Amino acid sequence: MKQGWEAVIGMEIHTQLATETKIFCSCAVETGGEPNSNTCPTCLGLPGALPVLNKRVVELGARAALALGLEIQETSIFSRKNYFYPDLPKGYQISQYDKPFSANGTLKIMTAERDEHGRPVDWRPMEIHIQRMHLEEDAGKNVHEGLPDTDKYSYVDLNRAGTPLGEIVTSPDFRTSWQAYDYVNHVRRALQWVGASDADMEKGNLRCEANVSVRKVGETEFRNKVELKNLNSVRFMQKAIEYEIERQIEAHESGEGVNQETRLWDEKNDRTRVMRSKEDAHDYRYFPEPDLQPLVVTSEFIETVRAQMPEMPDAMQERFMATYGMSLADATQLTSDKDTAEYFETTARISANPKLAANWMLGELTRELNNSGKAISESLMTAEDLAELIATVESGKISNSQAKEVMAEMFATGKPAPAIIAEKGFEQVSDTSAIEAIIDEVIANNAGQVEAYRGGKEALFGFFVGQVMKASQGKANPKVVNDILREKL
Ligand code: ZN
Ligand code: MN
Repeated sequence: MKQGWEAVIGMEIHTQLATETKIFCSCAVETGGEPNSNTCPTCLGLPGALPVLNKRVVELGARAALALGLEIQETSIFSRKNYFYPDLPKGYQISQYDKPFSANGTLKIMTAERDEHGRPVDWRPMEIHIQRMHLEEDAGKNVHEGLPDTDKYSYVDLNRAGTPLGEIVTSPDFRTSWQAYDYVNHVRRALQWVGASDADMEKGNLRCEANVSVRKVGETEFRNKVELKNLNSVRFMQKAIEYEIERQIEAHESGEGVNQETRLWDEKNDRTRVMRSKEDAHDYRYFPEPDLQPLVVTSEFIETVRAQMPEMPDAMQERFMATYGMSLADATQLTSDKDTAEYFETTARISANPKLAANWMLGELTRELNNSGKAISESLMTAEDLAELIATVESGKISNSQAKEVMAEMFATGKPAPAIIAEKGFEQVSDTSAIEAIIDEVIANNAGQVEAYRGGKEALFGFFVGQVMKASQGKANPKVVNDILREKL
């Protein structure tokens, strides 16, 4: 950022709460269905249809709120947010306004600036103030598509209408695009972790908007802000914010100034462009939804939800460091998502060797996952299988380098370790009588070297080990070979 300037960024996230059914009716929440198949009079907005609040939305909303350090309000009110758009047949969205479901959150995240290769430098904690998370319904979708043998046409698909959302709004606490990036990733992981939302940006069930303005360092007032939309990935969001900061600083310095407007990220041209200006800013005429009771949440309910919450990543990291003597970097990587953390805990428990479980996961398994572009949940090698492999290496049955080869095969095929070890003939021979026989033969065939060794040429010991290993086709347990050889020589 240009010297003397600072950016002021606030974030808004809409996240789809992972319910089976919609927020005010019993239609299924499903993507990819036949257009308008998951609809009923309520979510179609037909006159006279009445909304009924889905209790599961409140439960998942509560999990999300607690995961983000928000205070759940005893009473919250649903309000009508009035605006016209074809994908909103009622002419209003049921949302929450002055009495949101949860408010006043403090969230500790880790954030880092990035070097020129985009690698994080120096992670530090940062506190974010989350003003609120309210509950609301999603709108439908306007679809513009062309079908074979037809003209291009557009239609409204209301399958998404009435899908439950949590809208999470922060104070303008961020000063750099990377802080916003780290925040969104933190929120995403927290929501997935507690099962409140799939929080998948590519699928559109987590959408974020950034409010960006800049000012001279030392100024306390805010200058005009721009709302950035259409941010389809965290990376695009970061780039859009970065672009916008530079654009605004230039616009202020040239005297042109910054318009209060909504801009879209244009990923083809790597720039933001105007979507709409302040003139059509909406006045939503919020008023309480007369068809819904105030939502009252008892402290008993909150405590029940709290008791069902899983251990959160921060606590888990600390436990890994304290219990297993793990570094912060390793503990962070093993808690990067819930699947990874569970995989590690299972492997560590079954193998009874957390240290090796961590080493194999951070080394070989991470490499395989990166090479294949797979998520750990898609790994054909289960945690149980990895634990078995670790136990096999530890027992000395196969060597470490053999184990790496076995693991690659396990990852590729999903076969368990014993099957692959047998196929590859990797089983080490630890049976002393079999090894003894080979050693006797080697000694008998190399009388000259035996004499030289016994005469003091100790360096020849390696030669004998090599001969025995060769004769056993690499299967003899090297430790057993060494022991017996020393004895016999
Ligand atoms: Zn419905
Ligand atoms: Mn909203």
